[in-house]
Amino acid sequence: MILILLGPPGSGKGTQAKRLVKQRGFTHLSTGDMLREAVKNETELGLKVKSIMDTGELVADDLIIGLITEKMQEVGGAAFMLDGFPRNLTQAEKLDEIFVAENLSVDRVIFLNVAEEELVKRLSGRFYCPKCNAGYNYPAHLPKVDGVCDTDGEKILRRPDDEEDVVRNRLKVYHRLTSPLENYYREKGLLAEISAGEHPDRVTESIMKVITATW
Ligand code: ADP
Repeated sequence: MILILLGPPGSGKGTQAKRLVKQRGFTHLSTGDMLREAVKNETELGLKVKSIMDTGELVADDLIIGLITEKMQEVGGAAFMLDGFPRNLTQAEKLDEIFVAENLSVDRVIFLNVAEEELVKRLSGRFYCPKCNAGYNYPAHLPKVDGVCDTDGEKILRRPDDEEDVVRNRLKVYHRLTSPLENYYREKGLLAEISAGEHPDRVTESIMKVITATW
């Protein structure tokens, strides 16, 4: 099964993806995570994309398409979900081409819909553990000890692109370039719209219902 997680920054794609990995054994392919890893390791790709990521703009299509194609090949025949890709119409059309060539198809596009003011609130309170990647949120999901990860005691950090002005730009970029994909997949009959402003457990339940109905 192949799923696409679609939704604005802060809509919970990463949080829900982690749960789907645990509960359903999906492989999670997150372009954002891949790029952050490349930046952290200062690879050639990382050095190319860092400055653009820090502004909240999109990285060049050819870089992203190369990266995701390689990762999809590594997955082989296993069920996987795409998070952060495709992010504009060019990428969506390219994905269609790749899938036609590989005889694959998207089963469902899960669209996590959240009101704008809730997104800003979530992103400005968001922290993560650099060691185990666990997510925290002030004040919705606090660590047991302020400022450190529950699992390994590591100091939790903010993503550089979660600073307020960058958050605003990421939302603009979403509206301008990514939100047209909502209609693109709706017209193909693939879009499942989930009301994702609720508690993460409720959102997981809604996604599970869609998966069960599709599979
Ligand atoms: P968000 O929380 O905004 O959904 P991600 O973690 O998915 O963020 O991505 C972080 C940044 O990585 C984006 O702002 C963008 O610069 C870059 N990026 C991720 N995926 C893509 C993509 N498919 N195309 C272009 N740039 C991307």
